[in-house]
Amino acid sequence: MEIVFLGTGGGRINLIKQARGTGGFRINSPSANIHVDPGPGALIHSIKNRQDPITLDCIIVTHDHIDHVSDAMALIEGMSHYGLKKKGIVIGSRHALAGDETGDRGISGYHQSKAALAHIPEFGQKKTFQTGHGEFLFVAIPMKHEEPTAFGFKLAMDGKTLGYISDTEYMESLGTDFAGCDLLIVNCIKPEADKYGGHLWTGEVTEVLKTARPKLCVITHMGMKMMKLGPAREAEKIERESGVKTIAARDGMKLNV
Ligand SMILES: [Zn+2]
Repeated sequence: MEIVFLGTGGGRINLIKQARGTGGFRINSPSANIHVDPGPGALIHSIKNRQDPITLDCIIVTHDHIDHVSDAMALIEGMSHYGLKKKGIVIGSRHALAGDETGDRGISGYHQSKAALAHIPEFGQKKTFQTGHGEFLFVAIPMKHEEPTAFGFKLAMDGKTLGYISDTEYMESLGTDFAGCDLLIVNCIKPEADKYGGHLWTGEVTEVLKTARPKLCVITHMGMKMMKLGPAREAEKIERESGVKTIAARDGMKLNV
């Protein structure tokens, strides 16, 4: 299994400054190619990194914030062969697919109809998805974020288990919910606690890892303060204090699991 990081920046300022990209990441494995959280630049950075959207089997949108959903519709047009074939799976939060109480939704009904399946996961319910050349097992795990239907997930495919902790406040349950991963990707936006809730900082990621104990942790979705201090230094600190091997993602980084 290969992971390609197409954007490792997070936060409102980075979104506009694009100090780091905001395209999410892609999982390439014999059973499925999956793009996760395609924010602004996901399409262009896919092309620049030779990750053809036509070869996607699935797109996952963990919540309806612009830095996780904005390029999803463009990628669906790729996944569905320029919109000509009903193909691929879209797994999205309730707000992204069905809409919030005002009717806003990040992925239009038109684009959802281009996928063979548009699916809103129930928290904790394991589901197997078939791709035509394999399958993967998926379970959505609740996050504590502005959107109540935001999720993280664990995904098992081709003998590997990958966990993704998307945007969330710290919860003690994260450690046990994400136990047993070969690779755990964590959105770690801040190097220290501040008054803005909804996101994990370095110390909280360390606490999660002490219980989750993946074989490898990758931090991503980093904000401006994190970049200034040096994500590699923060990753070292997490590794030292948790005992879990941890690296900081970089734009364009490829990782074999
Ligand atoms: Zn968010």
